[in-house]
Amino acid sequence: MRYHNITKDDMLNGDGLRVVLWVAGCEHCCEGCQNPMTWDPNGGLLFDESAKQEIFDQLDQPYINGITFSGGDPLHCANREGVKQLMQEIKEKYPDKTIWLYTGDSWENIKNYPMMKYIDVLVDGEFKLALRDITLLWKGSSNQRVIDVQATLSQEDISIPVLHCGDHDDIPMGRETSRAPKAVDENIIQFNGGMDTACCGCQA
Ligand code: SF4
Repeated sequence: MRYHNITKDDMLNGDGLRVVLWVAGCEHCCEGCQNPMTWDPNGGLLFDESAKQEIFDQLDQPYINGITFSGGDPLHCANREGVKQLMQEIKEKYPDKTIWLYTGDSWENIKNYPMMKYIDVLVDGEFKLALRDITLLWKGSSNQRVIDVQATLSQEDISIPVLHCGDHDDIPMGRETSRAPKAVDENIIQFNGGMDTACCGCQA
């Protein structure tokens, strides 16, 4: 697995404060994608022990709610095994932290992937420029869904996703949705002006 960036104290890609891993590799080629340089699975840096430790150092902080996998597409074939192994390790080491994942694929195609047992929330679907709406919560276009994965998997028919939240800011107390600019870590590789934009959540 390769990656482009690890961002910290992120409030734009899931509930609470999060660490975000931006992986390399995507074949969806969405019109309007804010990060086409992430499409090449051979781009970026090798995800090594030092990168993993950088993530663990963040998850060690009590104020970090969890990790979000974005990109690129974490479910690109070049990433699936690495993402699954990392998720397994995180769930064992940090059982109280949540795991979110953004993918351009549809729930119907990926619902049986083995890593689903580790994911709390999954935002699915390609970014559709014609359906772009910057008021949407945690997603860039209205075709996408913010899915409660474990609630969905607990149903008899897992092909019908249970949503984690509504389309807009009708959210419970304590969930942070600010889109204010954040500080940029000088050690990270910069592209797209600081990676505020999620895979499939082109909300710049
Ligand atoms: S918006 Fe996301 S899924 Fe679509 S091409 Fe860009 S990185 Fe890939």
